[in-house]
Amino acid sequence: MESAVARSGRPPDSVELVAVSKTHPPEALVEALEAGQTLFGESRVQEFKAKVPVLPGRVRWHFIGHLQRNKVRQVLSLPVELFHGIDSLELALELERISADTGVRPRILLEVNVAAESSKFGFRPESIRASLEQILSLNRVSVEGLMAIPPAAAEGERARPYFAGLRQLRDALASEFGVGLPVLSMGMSSDFEVAIEEGSTLVRVGSALFGRRSGSGWRPASESERLSA
Ligand SMILES: *Cc1c(COP(=O)(O)O)cnc(C)c1O
Repeated sequence: MESAVARSGRPPDSVELVAVSKTHPPEALVEALEAGQTLFGESRVQEFKAKVPVLPGRVRWHFIGHLQRNKVRQVLSLPVELFHGIDSLELALELERISADTGVRPRILLEVNVAAESSKFGFRPESIRASLEQILSLNRVSVEGLMAIPPAAAEGERARPYFAGLRQLRDALASEFGVGLPVLSMGMSSDFEVAIEEGSTLVRVGSALFGRRSGSGWRPASESERLSA
């Protein structure tokens, strides 16, 4: 990360690492925490909910996954500093509605379907404007920027056009709407250097830090007991 930042002539503190800890047990997070990593990304509500109480309070959490509308209330009761994967107007409106009840002020990124993949969630670049206009008018939800996951086949250098496209979309929206949108969440284990060169401010790195994820991954004890019962 440091050399990619230096190569692109950006200030060293302009990019932050989100350690993607989904499927890994709390011990793995503690080890990373002891090495100085305080920011973690989780993407499954049940697993996240189980990890929060067993990790020290100084851990900072980002929710990076797709969020189902019926899980919004649960996840808003957890300490989420930033939501990366807000992928529809309906979801943003649900966050607004429930946060009015619970008194929180969610900070969000809008997920953009940069390659128009039919299998993927997210706003289409050509139709994001109407939704953004409505989301910007909300009282509690605050849009901080954009997030994208390029097609799986576009690893490393091949992801560059998608990252550049997300940055250009952000620049265009920021100027059209007269807002900041400073955060660009892009780049994972296979392409974070390219993403940094293209302006990423948050890289979401999992396997390069924690190793490969096993199929089902870590489950809180109570849940695995239930499953084996
Ligand atoms: C799992 C995940 C990552 C991490 O992917 P790696 O290739 O293991 O670095 C990044 N972003 C999101 C949204 C994820 O779900």
